[in-house]
Amino acid sequence: MTRTIQLAMEPEDTPAWRAVLEKLVPTSGLDLELLPDDPDPGSVDYLVYNIDSGITDFTPYTKLRAILNTWAGVEAVLKTIDWPAHVPFTRMVEPGMTQGMAEYFTGHAMRYHLDIDRFVTDSVEGRWQKWSPPLTSMRTVGILGLGELGIATAGLLRGLGFKLIGWSRSPKDLDGVACHHGADGLRRVLEDAEILVVILPLTPETENVLNAETLAWMPRGACIVNAGRGPLIDDDALLAALASGQIRHATLDVFREEPLPQGHGYWQNPGVTVTPHIASVTRPETACAAILEQIARDLDGKPLLHVVDRNRGY
Ligand code: NAP
Repeated sequence: MTRTIQLAMEPEDTPAWRAVLEKLVPTSGLDLELLPDDPDPGSVDYLVYNIDSGITDFTPYTKLRAILNTWAGVEAVLKTIDWPAHVPFTRMVEPGMTQGMAEYFTGHAMRYHLDIDRFVTDSVEGRWQKWSPPLTSMRTVGILGLGELGIATAGLLRGLGFKLIGWSRSPKDLDGVACHHGADGLRRVLEDAEILVVILPLTPETENVLNAETLAWMPRGACIVNAGRGPLIDDDALLAALASGQIRHATLDVFREEPLPQGHGYWQNPGVTVTPHIASVTRPETACAAILEQIARDLDGKPLLHVVDRNRGY
């Protein structure tokens, strides 16, 4: 029996996804048909989806077997849409996005570790000033969020020799990472983190996880890289911590409001590097293979991977 796929995403992105799937489906060994744009919803088995498609009502999708989200973060979906309880809704995990995120964090961690900005400033100001950074084995990087992206980041950082300490909701045992969880675990991680990587999902439990109290637990002069979600950080508390020198610098990829509004205290702030939500992106070239793997699992009667848990919020 032929199963069908609909692409439901930003219209400008559809051609790239369609082109890759048109190449992969015929050699996948799966009996699949890629439907044209705007098909009869009642004919769709698999919806490759994000909320920028504008679809919020799944009632017409009477034979849907799965909704395969093209994004990793699902907090907006959980606030906006309600999908049928029997239909699994998965978040995107794909090697291109995972590698891109690990590279983003590693690049910014190395910038802080080597204090590259100091040499940029000295060059511009014509100053010959010797300074040697410690070795990575003398530097502790904290990672908030030990999921797909946090673990991949830990892998790259571990390869460079950093001491790693990490935090998750449930207990973890990871090679080369001192793992902590729960409220006490957060304090333990922040107290040691000279550089902090933040890659948590946004949930009611993680909102404002970095606030005046928790930022004060960090070593004075620590640096932060946040690519999780903007509301993980209390912005006023971070601006105050930057002004006081408690936090030396922050690289922020995600914000409560995006694009970050002009006039926000993060713009033109020498203590902040703003990146415009580009830490990592879903890449159709690698993501389409991940989508077909999920469909193959479903057709084999296996449970889908990375299914969103509405109660957990991620
Ligand atoms: P994931 O695999 O679901 O991992 C999430 C991690 O956060 C898990 O380790 C989880 O703990 C931990 N966590 C969740 N709630 C927690 C809590 N209350 N206390 C402590 N730890 C908690 O997610 P992922 O694929 O790594 O993605 C993480 C987030 O990255 C996404 O939700 C999205 O917001 C963001 N993202 C951003 C970009 C960008 O370009 N800026 C791109 C992709 C993703 P457990 O292991 O115990 O479950």
